[in-house]
Order: sequence, then structure tokens, then C-alpha cells
Amino acid sequence: MRMQRVWNGLLRLDGAVVEEVAFEQQALIVSVRPKAKERDRCGKCRRRCPGYDQGEGRRRWRALDFGTTLVYLEAQAPRVRCREHGVIVAAVPWARHDANFTIAFEDQSAWLAVNTSKKAVSQLMRVAWRTVGWICQRVMADEQAGRDLLAGLRHIGIDEISTAKGQTYMVVVVDHDTGRLVWAHPGRDRKTVEKFLDLLGDERCKLIALVSCDDADWITLPVSERCENATVCLDPFHIVKAATDALDEIRREVWNQARRSGQPELAKELKGARFVLWKNAEKLTERQQTTLARIQQLNQRLYRAYLLAQQLRQIYRVPAEQAHELLDAWLKWARRSRLEPFRRLARRITQQRKKVEAAFINNLSNAVVEQINTQIRLIMRRGFGFHSPWNVIALAMLSLGGLCPPLPAEGA
Ligand SMILES: [Zn+2]
Repeated sequence: MRMQRVWNGLLRLDGAVVEEVAFEQQALIVSVRPKAKERDRCGKCRRRCPGYDQGEGRRRWRALDFGTTLVYLEAQAPRVRCREHGVIVAAVPWARHDANFTIAFEDQSAWLAVNTSKKAVSQLMRVAWRTVGWICQRVMADEQAGRDLLAGLRHIGIDEISTAKGQTYMVVVVDHDTGRLVWAHPGRDRKTVEKFLDLLGDERCKLIALVSCDDADWITLPVSERCENATVCLDPFHIVKAATDALDEIRREVWNQARRSGQPELAKELKGARFVLWKNAEKLTERQQTTLARIQQLNQRLYRAYLLAQQLRQIYRVPAEQAHELLDAWLKWARRSRLEPFRRLARRITQQRKKVEAAFINNLSNAVVEQINTQIRLIMRRGFGFHSPWNVIALAMLSLGGLCPPLPAEGA
């Protein structure tokens, strides 16, 4: 009897009783049963239901290791008949429905997936990365159930993200006020955006004051229709990226010319200059500044493109009144630049000018937007190998939606 109490204390099994402990093939097998008040409950809704049968006999759940020893809980897995969910395996207090792991094991795995590397989680927990994906999904569903992430949304960003070399796309929604990811769903079409708006509901759609996004019709049209009080503005992130792309087009063009005209030295130098050109001017190291000075000497065209791209970033850094003037000047300069990619960009911005200006009128800082965007992209890339977009979404929501559970020991 006393030993049982020790085991109960060690395993911290609320709502369960330890019946027996055995050592089997280097692993600890702990036989348990739910306490009377935890028995005969539906695995999905946890409502009390009449029993049905004994199911498939005894089952095991992997629990947190004892030191280096693997631990499994073992128990009967009877079935019950729920009014809503039909014949279903009864709930157990130590694990989530359909899981082969205890709640503590899953919470710790999810915490590690958020806070450490892919390799660290798999090796420390001794589970496959794919399995971590499924765990993340269960933990997210559980954490999300008790919360309304869409409550109080006023300023949001809607964006499209591609994962795994463009094979999967998803739509993500970010709360600009908290910097949190509040919604993500596979897809890149109007239907997906409408799913989000449906979930938000008519009342809350009316409360949305600002929506930042790319200038894609499948986002802007449903948003304008349903969020009648919202100002739509073009995401600074996408504008800055468009300028970087234009610059890169010029760089490649100049580089190709240099190669073809027998200037291998120049070609080599330009190839290495890629990151220098992309970087914020004030963040350049001394050596990078030298590279930039060389470009100025060697190729006026490329240097002009560089200045144009840098200048466009500035409109999101100065007060709104100055930003209007700066944008005016930039558009004139780009149109006269004799650089086709920048002339194209100038045309696009002119067409969408109101939406571009709405971003700085409403004080949407590119730094914040870009930071969230970069974080989401990093998580999505790490989630590669999960084999389901929902697993990737779960990891993203745990990491960036504030849904990550504390480590099991923190609650102790
Ligand atoms: Zn049920």
C-alpha cells in the first residue's frame, strides 16, 4: 500500500490509481486504472456514458522517462456509448483521446518542439519528428479549445505562405496589436479567406479597422465585402520585397552581361555582392561598404537600382507627412530610371497608391510585419518533414499563437 502511494506520487497521476509496477525488457510497465469518478466517460467529450464493451483489451501509453528508463502506463481500454459520439474508447485521465502518449509526455514534446531544434526533440524524447507533428496537433487542439483567439481583433494582416518548395500553401492571419498568429489554414484562394471571415462572424468583421495584405484579389475582395469598416492597406513587407526582387533582376542582368562580355572578375564580384545589396544600408559592415563602393564605381545601373530599393524602404520609417512626399519623389525617380523592373513596380504602386499610403497613414511598421513574417516562414520551414500541413500549422500556432503549454514540471 505504501509503495503504491510512492508510485502515485512519482508518476503524479491525478485521477488514476497504480495497481502494479513491473520491469520488462529494460522498460518500466506501470499498470493503472482510472479512479471511479473518471471511469465511463466519452473519449471525445468526457461526458459520463453507459459502458459498451471491453474494447481491444489492454493498452499502453508512453510516459515521461525515469532517468534513462522508458516508462509505459498500461490499462484496460473499454468502450462506452456516447449519445453524441457513438461507440467510442473511454477517456483516460492521463492521456488525450487517440494518443499513445501521456499528457505530460505530449506537453513536454510540444514545449521542446517550440523551444529547441528538431533533432533535440526527437533524440531527447526518443520519438520520430513525424510523431512530434501529430503530438503538436493534439496539444494545439487541446489548448485552443478553451480559448477564443479571434476575440478583440482590430488590426490584422492576412498573408499567403508557401511551404516545402511551394508544394503546399496556407493562409495566415496575424494580429498586428499583439504580434500573434491567430489563424492558419491550408489553401491560397478566396474560399480559404472566406473560411476565416465566417469563423470571425459578421459582428466581429465589423470591428476590424485595418487589414494589411498583398494586392491579391482573392484576399482584398472578400475582405472589402465583409469587413465594411476596414481600411485595406498593402503590406510594407510585400512592397519592400518587390523592390528587392526588382533589384535582383537588375543584378542578374548586369552579371550576365559581365560574363558574356568577358569580364569574369566583375562577374565574380557582382555575384558575391548579392547580400550586400539586399541588406539595410545602415547595417552594412565595413567590408560590405567597400563592396558597395566598388559597385558604385563599376556599374552605375546596378548602383542606381540599389539606391531605388533602399529609398523605398525609407517611406515606412519616416512620419506619414514626409512619407507622402518621399513616395512621390520615389515614383518620379523610378519612372525615369530606365530600369524596367522598377518602372513596372512604380506602375503597380501608382495603381494601388491609396492602399500603399494606408500602411504608413495607419502607422504599420514594416519592422514588426517583417519580423512576424520571418518567424512564420522559419517555423514553416522547420515543419517540413511533418507530412501534413495541419502539423505544420500546429507547430506554428504553438510557437507564434501563444498556445505552447508550460513544461509539466512548471505546474507542479
Ligand atoms: Zn461524446
